[in-house]
Amino acid sequence: KQDGKNRCHVFDTDYARSLRGHQETIADIRQGLAQKQFRLFYQPKVNMHTGEIIGAEALIRWLHPHKGMVAPALFLPAIEQHSLGVELGYWVIEEALRQLAEWQRQGMTLPVSVNISAYHLQQLDFVNRLQLLLHFYSDVSPSLLQLEILETSALNDLTHVQAVMQACIRSGVSFALDDFGTGYSSLTYLKRLPAKVLKIDQSFVRDMLIDPDDLAILKGIIVLANEFKREIVAEGVETTEHGELLLQLGCTHAQGYGIARPMPAEQFMPWKKAWLPPEVWVAAKVGEAT
Ligand code: C2E
Ligand code: MG
Ligand code: MG
Ligand code: MG
Repeated sequence: KQDGKNRCHVFDTDYARSLRGHQETIADIRQGLAQKQFRLFYQPKVNMHTGEIIGAEALIRWLHPHKGMVAPALFLPAIEQHSLGVELGYWVIEEALRQLAEWQRQGMTLPVSVNISAYHLQQLDFVNRLQLLLHFYSDVSPSLLQLEILETSALNDLTHVQAVMQACIRSGVSFALDDFGTGYSSLTYLKRLPAKVLKIDQSFVRDMLIDPDDLAILKGIIVLANEFKREIVAEGVETTEHGELLLQLGCTHAQGYGIARPMPAEQFMPWKKAWLPPEVWVAAKVGEAT
């Protein structure tokens, strides 16, 4: 119908198969949620220059009884626009708050960010449900929770999203725009959405050492972030060289395999105690931008 009148679609078997695949995944995920098969892994965000651990991003993993550990890209798409995706999204927020409370009891107070789909954020009861969770975990300061919104995802009604974000911010949580620079309306989002942090997409970081265009985009994002008084976190820092160049450009905050891979919660404190940044990062002359 979306394609207008007088059109006829042959029912595509591939499509049918993928639908059936999704249906199976949905049933499987629902069961997985009931049977507590999901885990959050945590990847550190650091200040490369000072060595300070500035936070952690929570990333979902499915410990599937037959398939082993399943990455989010393999199951989240099936439930992205589905109530089960919303349910799993609340599970993620709650689990992160539970972990924050546990770490706090163990003497570690560390900001944690979770990924929220645009579909979830736009649910009418989002603010209420978030506030209920924050209220339940009242030992945890809401300022320790950051919500990462995928910048490429469909934020249909920016005015509504703005209002939701402002209400959440009044409750104490903050926002980051994830994969910044890859969406088709990055600049509109930057202008209109009250996100404290821009996470520079890993594609720009990955290729900045070899592709002058990516380097130029990266520099531009850093200038923009400064003009708009937003913090930046570079994603996908895989090597010491990536970090060195970012520091020269004035970007000190980073996340990536070159620092640490996402890890189970219980490995985080030992990792944090042991981590030291590479000498060249500590010695680097940090660029003007920050
Ligand atoms: P993201 O939020 O941009 O998360 C960063 C992804 O890049 C993670 O993949 C992380 O493991 C990976 N990564 C980190 N450092 C490096 C690096 O140096 N090199 C490379 N090549 N990759 C790196 P992951 O965990 O597979 O997650 C993929 C995406 O799935 C996330 O991208 C996010 O959009 C989504 N996602 C993950 N967990 C959740 C969740 O709980 N809820 C929702 N709605 N989405 C999630
Ligand atoms: Mg993210
Ligand atoms: Mg990202
Ligand atoms: Mg991504």
